[in-house]
Order: sequence, then C-alpha cells, then structure tokens
Amino acid sequence: MQHDSKLPEVGTTIFSVMSKLAKAHNAINLSQGFPDFGSDQELINLVSNAMNSGYNQYAPMAGNLELREAIAKKMHTLYNATYHPETEITITAGATQAISTILSTFISPGDEVIIFKPAYDSYEPGIILNGGKAIPIQLGAPSFNVDWELVKGKVNNRTKMIIINTPHNPSGTVFSKEYMLELERITKNTNIIVLSDEVYEHMIYDGEKHQSACLFPDLKSRSFVVASFCKTFHNTGWRVGYCCAPKELMKLFMQVHQFSVFCVHHPTQKGIADYMQEPKHYLGLSKFYQEKRDLFLSLIKDSKFKFQPSKGTYFQVLDYSEITQEYDVDFAKRLTIESGLAAIPLSVFNENNLDNKVLRFCFAKKDDTLKLAAEILNCI
Ligand code: GLN
Repeated sequence: MQHDSKLPEVGTTIFSVMSKLAKAHNAINLSQGFPDFGSDQELINLVSNAMNSGYNQYAPMAGNLELREAIAKKMHTLYNATYHPETEITITAGATQAISTILSTFISPGDEVIIFKPAYDSYEPGIILNGGKAIPIQLGAPSFNVDWELVKGKVNNRTKMIIINTPHNPSGTVFSKEYMLELERITKNTNIIVLSDEVYEHMIYDGEKHQSACLFPDLKSRSFVVASFCKTFHNTGWRVGYCCAPKELMKLFMQVHQFSVFCVHHPTQKGIADYMQEPKHYLGLSKFYQEKRDLFLSLIKDSKFKFQPSKGTYFQVLDYSEITQEYDVDFAKRLTIESGLAAIPLSVFNENNLDNKVLRFCFAKKDDTLKLAAEILNCI
C-alpha cells in the first residue's frame, strides 16, 4: 500500500531519538525531560487507594470533579483567577493532548498561528495537521528576547492564534510581566486565541514570579492556560495534564475532546485531587529545582561551556562554541556515543534549523547523576 504522509517534513521527535541513543550507548540521559527519581510515595498510595476504592470506571468527560475543584482553588489562590470547575477546566492526557485538541478545535485551513522559536516540537505538526500555517518568530540565543514590534507586524486578519510558553522549553527563559502586557495589547480587540503553555509554572528561579496568562484580564478572556501534573509531581509517564479557559472557548474544546480521549485515567485523577489538598506538594518545587540548577552549574563553572543560569523549567542551556563548531545535532550525538552524556540540540526547535551551538541539559536528576554528568562536561 502507498499513502502520502500528512507530515512529510516531520521525522521522529528528538526526545525519542536522543533517549534511544542514550540507552543504546549506556549514556547518562540529560536529554528528554524527565526525573530519574521517583514520585512521592504518598501520591502513589493515594492513586492505589483510588483504584482500590472503585475509581475504575469512566471519569466525567471533563475529568474527575474533585480534581477540577482542586485546580480551580489553586488557580484562585495563586493567580486570583476564577475558573468554574464544571465548565472551564478540563483534564487531559498530558499537556500534549490539550495542545493538540486546542489546535484541532480552532485551526482551519488558511489560519495562521504565531509561534516563537525555538518552539516545543508538537506545536507546528499540530498546526499543519489542521491545515493551518505556522508563522515563526525566531528568538536569538542567549537572551531569547522577543521583539514585539516584529510580532505586531505578523498579526493580520488570518491570525487565529498565538502560542506562548513560559517558563520556556528549551531555553529556560521566562516571559516578564511587560511581555505579557505587550501580548495583551497586541491581541486586544481581536479574535485571536492565546494558547499559553505553562507546564513549568512551578519551576521558576531567583525569586521571579510566574506570569500566567490568567493574571491579565483581557488575556485571560482569550486564553487556554495549559498545565501538567507530570512535570509537577515527577511522573511524566502518567500523562495527566489540564487546561483552563473561559466557558465559551471550553465548550468548543469539549466537542473535540469527547471524541479524542473522552476522559483520562480515572484513579490517577482522584489520587492527584487528594494529593493537591496540601499545597506544599507543588509550592516547594522552585526551591527544590533551583538547588539542582545551582549544583549543576557550580560543578561545571570551570568547564569550557558558557551559560546564563536557567530562569525556569528544569532545563539548562549550555553554549559549546568554544569547544567545537560542529552542528549541534552532530555534537549531541557524539557527546552521547563517545562521552556517555546525552543532551538535546536546540536547532531542531529553530526556524530553518538555526544552529546557535547550544545544547539543552535536563537537571531533574539525582545529585549523583548531575555530578557524573558534570565530570564528563569538565573533560570536554
Ligand atoms: N517535554 C519533554 C522535554 O521537553 C519531552 C516530552 C516528550 O518526550 N514527548 O524533554
């Protein structure tokens, strides 16, 4: 049989490529973003309790109500934002499903979606699958600052959506309040939807405050705020995320969501709902990861890699231009095969594979893992 690909330009995601290579060469894997330590036993017990006490049939389509109520409470406590748990919050199979369903719900052939590059690699394929056109705005390393005049120049009557991601994967930068106000000004009095990918909301460093789209009233009225429990509770394999949006947008989202997943794994939702009753379970995360970032950076401070400390996410970008001028994908592969350390090359997220000679390292790892990785980096 012969069929055309709907995504002819798309290969296997770099996360699978690098994790597979790391495994094949027994390398330390700081590439794909996931912790090498376990989730809290208390949370695991709560999920087991949920299974043992009958939470094994379908959850409501939008998700377990207790979990949606816990999210509504969190959004109110942290951001003073009101989302109605019955109509404005949906539990999804990770943030990736939320993103894909938002794109299927709103993007039609000819629609334009502004994305900032380096961009997480699921955005563009999701836009293309729905016949839309990604309008890239390339940000330059190492600052990854946004030129808002450039953004304004790209907005026209075909602009259906703008996707932002703060804290930003892969650069580890964050959008400031001024940036969010710029975005609010640009989208005001338009029909543009904002998809705000905030999966690293609880990992933000040096006393900075996360600038959620829901903190800005006009932005909130046009935004899907997308978040994930997988990052927050150290269990990326559980695939439980959520999104929040005003009810008229969520109603359209639900039309598609009901026929893509219907609902998400029920006992996990109940377990997380119980676990969230204690806010310290997610509020201590910035301190926890800042210590890991600082440990990692202190260990490699004398290496030939250059860096600006990550401001958020659990990723640190390192510039290797003083070591070699190799293409970053080649260098990442060589580092894995020859030195036993895997990282993610940034060019795969950039427009025209722009190569800034930077790799992304995940520091969501045990201190011992970070020490071993640093030993390797110091010898390069
Ligand atoms: N979000 C993770 C990362 O950036 C990877 C997710 C995935 O492998 N699909 O590394």
